[in-house]
Amino acid sequence: MAKHKTHYEDCDVLVVGGGMAGTGATFEARHWGRDMKIICVEKANIDRSGAVAQGLYAINCYMGMQWGENQPEDHVRYARNDLMGMVREDLGYDMARHVDSTVHMFDEWGLPMMKNEETGRYLREGKWQIMIHGESYKPIVAEAAKKSADKIYNRIMITHLLMDESQENRVGGAVGFNMRTGDFHVFRAKAVIVAAGGASHIFKPRAVGEGMGRTWYAPWSNGSAYALPIAAGAKMTQMENRIVLCRFKDGYGPVGAYFLHLKTYTQNANGENYEKKWYDQTKELVGEYIDHHPTPTCLRNHAFIQETMAGGGPIHMVTTEAFQDPHLETVGWENFLGMTVGQAVVWASQNIDPKYTNPELTTSEPYVMGSHATCSGAWVSGPEDLSPPEYFWGYNRMLTIDGLFGAGDTVGGSAHKFSSGSFTEGRLAAKAAVKYIEDKKAEGLKVSDKQCEDFKTKVYKPLETYTVAQNEITGGTVSPSYISPIQGLQRLQRIMDEYVGGIATNYMTNANMLKRGLELLAWLEEDLENVGAEDYHQLMRAWELKHRALTSQCVTEHTMFREETRWPGYYYRGDHMKLDDDNWHCLTVSRRDPKTGKFSMEKVPVYHIVDENEKKKAS
Ligand SMILES: Cc1cc2nc3c(=O)[nH]c(=O)nc-3n(C[C@H](O)[C@H](O)[C@H](O)COP(=O)(O)OP(=O)(O)OC[C@H]3O[C@@H](n4cnc5c(N)ncnc54)[C@H](O)[C@@H]3O)c2cc1C
Repeated sequence: MAKHKTHYEDCDVLVVGGGMAGTGATFEARHWGRDMKIICVEKANIDRSGAVAQGLYAINCYMGMQWGENQPEDHVRYARNDLMGMVREDLGYDMARHVDSTVHMFDEWGLPMMKNEETGRYLREGKWQIMIHGESYKPIVAEAAKKSADKIYNRIMITHLLMDESQENRVGGAVGFNMRTGDFHVFRAKAVIVAAGGASHIFKPRAVGEGMGRTWYAPWSNGSAYALPIAAGAKMTQMENRIVLCRFKDGYGPVGAYFLHLKTYTQNANGENYEKKWYDQTKELVGEYIDHHPTPTCLRNHAFIQETMAGGGPIHMVTTEAFQDPHLETVGWENFLGMTVGQAVVWASQNIDPKYTNPELTTSEPYVMGSHATCSGAWVSGPEDLSPPEYFWGYNRMLTIDGLFGAGDTVGGSAHKFSSGSFTEGRLAAKAAVKYIEDKKAEGLKVSDKQCEDFKTKVYKPLETYTVAQNEITGGTVSPSYISPIQGLQRLQRIMDEYVGGIATNYMTNANMLKRGLELLAWLEEDLENVGAEDYHQLMRAWELKHRALTSQCVTEHTMFREETRWPGYYYRGDHMKLDDDNWHCLTVSRRDPKTGKFSMEKVPVYHIVDENEKKKAS
């Protein structure tokens, strides 16, 4: 261990992850905590990290309150509808009432926003989306964070949270290692904001082997946002609510601008509108939810999946009509250039010119995230002016561990935040974290050297394992004494795919499959004690895998607990195929006991705050 130097850093606010939420948190922490020491630690390089690394073509969450376009209440209703009723409306409202101010700052900071030439307003792509030239979106928000932080640490992967030893259930910082130097870093902090993004690659992706990185969701997002709090004993919510995306096949290019701006539409191989065909069958499963407008994302997926299973595929996006208009053709291509260049390359390689050939669509493998059309994540306190008692314990966006805050994909129950909402949530979390420190809630923290040293031994164990076990390699990378991160990852992905509702089973699972999945995950966990890493990059892969595996356990426990199919099109419980509002109109909350590793589950009421308040006002 001696060869890995240890660096200590004491700070007030520690931000883990410098993506959209992390940059927002770092920026806002400086605003409220003028004299505080603020540190942001990022696994990659903050200039091009996270889901927005490559840029975006639209900001998907903007109310337009200054022009009376939408109000926060409208957004709550929208998210509630899309998630089949299951959202934390206090969190959604809180984000929505602040998100416009975030977008206005992006504008001031130089993000090129498209304008409607007639009205002078931001150019709408849809009711909530505004269009940007967003290739440099991430460097722009990174600059705000860089100017705000005392220090940004790039290339450090945080592996564990530190806990205070003087008071139970209080955070004390975090530890990690530098993937380039191999040094160990201890960050002792009064408040920690976890903003480490969602999880791809826990379910087997459609593209395997050399194409493995070709997923919709960022391949480097490994669920640290979940694993860090789960390991420390924080409560999680809605982890069963994984997301499946309908996207252009193979490149996963976005379809939003195509539907909304280009007004393209989908059809089956016979040129039919297949969604209509599945109306009665879907109504059987979910009742009146199928009549809601807009149709919830999962239900549109459901029609796609059913049609494909019934032999109606491939499903195509009809682009050949819209692309006859040169302006729309340009928009269609530009949509990829600032965001998913790979899709244009895939079309070129497959000889698809969307002006003459309708491109194929697909449904993705499931991902776990909290900021898109899905709301997996940590169970957090809401704002004091909105949240009912069960949703409020002192500080906005604080998890069930004192001093530990979350934002963006980390936070569960609040869907449809997207990039702007995640940055906004980072700001809200940072404001509360500063208040927590100012209120002297972090006094007397004790983090012993022993705690740090124990983590250090754990963190580098895969290097030690490899050093010894490499002598027993029988051929290639096969050794009886260790598994490599890629071997472990593929094993994890198969378990999740085949037992927990991945593409292998057309997103189908049931209690027996989940039970078996949990057994296999437990054995994987045992074997991951013997994961080996030959260098620091593989050490990162080893820890990414461990975080993915823990996240997967939580997803599986939640999927087992909710005995209904709430979101057909995201996954199906074959033993409970129908939506069951009588028993399951509630949020699911889990906690893993850090001592025993056992999960406990509970139901928590879902409060429909927005319309309830309006009803009360009216009466
Ligand atoms: C494919 C795709 C397309 C999207 N399109 C749009 C769109 O068009 N418009 C829109 O508004 N939104 C869009 N979004 C949503 C938006 O990107 C997310 O809502 C937002 O990035 C979430 O912010 P976050 O900070 O939680 O996660 P991220 O922005 O992903 O940031 C997480 C950060 O944490 C770092 N990290 C991870 N683990 C660790 C660790 N252990 N230690 C240290 N650092 C760590 C990562 O490197 C990363 O920088 C899209 C998302 C995806 C995946």
